[in-house]
Amino acid sequence: MTETLNRVKTYQQFINGSWADSASGETIDVENPATGEVIAAVPSSGQADVDRAVEAAATAFESWSLTTPQTRSLALLKIADIMDANADELGRLESSQTGKPTGAAIDEMSVSSDLFRFFAGACRVPDGLAVTEYLEGHTSMVRRDPVGVVASIAPWNYPLYMAAWKLGPALATGNTVVLKPSARTPLSALRFAELVADELPAGVLNVLSGSGSAMGDMLVSHPKVRMVSITGDTVTGKHIAELAAGTVKRLHLELGGKAPVIVFDDADADLAAEIIKSAGYWNSGQDCTAACRVIAGPQIFDRFVSALSDQVRSIKWGNPADADDLDMGSLIAQAHADKVEGMVNRALEANAELVTGGTRPDRPGAYFEPTVIANPEQDSEIIQDEVFGPVVTVQRFSDEEQAVQWANDVRFGLASSVFTGSIGKAMRTARRLQFGTVWINEHFTLASETPHGGVKESGYGKDGSKYALEDYTVVKHITINTGV
Ligand code: NAD
Repeated sequence: MTETLNRVKTYQQFINGSWADSASGETIDVENPATGEVIAAVPSSGQADVDRAVEAAATAFESWSLTTPQTRSLALLKIADIMDANADELGRLESSQTGKPTGAAIDEMSVSSDLFRFFAGACRVPDGLAVTEYLEGHTSMVRRDPVGVVASIAPWNYPLYMAAWKLGPALATGNTVVLKPSARTPLSALRFAELVADELPAGVLNVLSGSGSAMGDMLVSHPKVRMVSITGDTVTGKHIAELAAGTVKRLHLELGGKAPVIVFDDADADLAAEIIKSAGYWNSGQDCTAACRVIAGPQIFDRFVSALSDQVRSIKWGNPADADDLDMGSLIAQAHADKVEGMVNRALEANAELVTGGTRPDRPGAYFEPTVIANPEQDSEIIQDEVFGPVVTVQRFSDEEQAVQWANDVRFGLASSVFTGSIGKAMRTARRLQFGTVWINEHFTLASETPHGGVKESGYGKDGSKYALEDYTVVKHITINTGV
């Protein structure tokens, strides 16, 4: 599926069980953001490629949708085993296109394979209404049928993990998929498809490597695509929702986040700081659930800021090629580092205080120093918009009411957390937080069984958990006239 041209590999797309260049013959370069070097080229998909992939998926749906849960489950279990067996290679490939530490990228593979295993099991135990007679002489039953061809559109921050969130429930329930990874990070999805190609009938999984701007609209508006599942920016999600309305497609939108972390005065400041060291800076803070917005109580504020800055200064970061066990690598691109730097500078110009970090190293690659900013205004850009970088802000609240009000006062609603020693305060606050997830004395723990997804402009639909099986199926009611 690949050939080596000018020292970098040129990949092909995976359509209907075989490998193909783009119909136009055009390619897109893929960079390693930790060095700025071009590491591969992939096909730049266009309308003809989209048409071929969607047609292949639509044809494959006719038979894949009629397979038994056992057949699909066994295929997913094999896929999980293949991921595990190739975790080192896939993780290193992931690291090379995202700039994330290799150890972390390799660890993402076992989390991803577990999603396939979870959905392999979950699809065999569907639940629902009992079959019964709601009208005399009529027996009613409810089926959950697959939706059809699903366009699965993934972001660059966890390329294969996000793909697994989508592929697991979609394939387990009998849908067929056209997967579009981010054009910045298509390599792991293409290699994954190559590794698992023999486990799925042709056309059940197709992978197109084109950019969202060049071919995204074609995929989303294709009349034979019945559902679009996108994980990405809220602006992209809104655009896709508008396009999908044209053919009334089902949508699954996992969009941006701006997670608040309320640290009450009775919290363990050291525990909160230790958890935020990981949850705020993991993947260079390029995480929709990143613990990026701390709202701390008046008594604990100074102690917490001091503990957090100690933790942040201990973060080991740099080029993933230098060591496997770094805490943080590069950001995804120079342009993204520019964006992060701009937001930090504007926050400081607006009188927020720099506690630690705030600079970019003078070397190739898209790096930004782990940063803590204190006392930004609630209505400032750095509080209201996604930074998506290694930057955590800390605000000082005056009372519980203000803490909750500030936490909710953003347009996003994906994830949040509360640190407190009081179970009553934790549960009271969790109830009032308008976010899809609330962690208590914790942040950023997920399992395949737990639902992940947002409210407000973070979108709708759940990844992981049995709720994802609902998202990827449609309810069909059948009534039989039994006579008497
Ligand atoms: P992005 O919106 O730029 O791109 C996401 C995907 O959408 C990519 O594959 C891209 O090519 C595609 N795309 C772009 N325009 C398109 C179009 N017109 N039609 C179809 N597809 C199109 O997002 P990103 O920069 O890759 O990822 C970062 C964003 O993702 C952040 O906002 C982050 O919060 C969000 N995110 C959310 C979750 C979640 O679970 N809610 C998880 C990870 C990332």
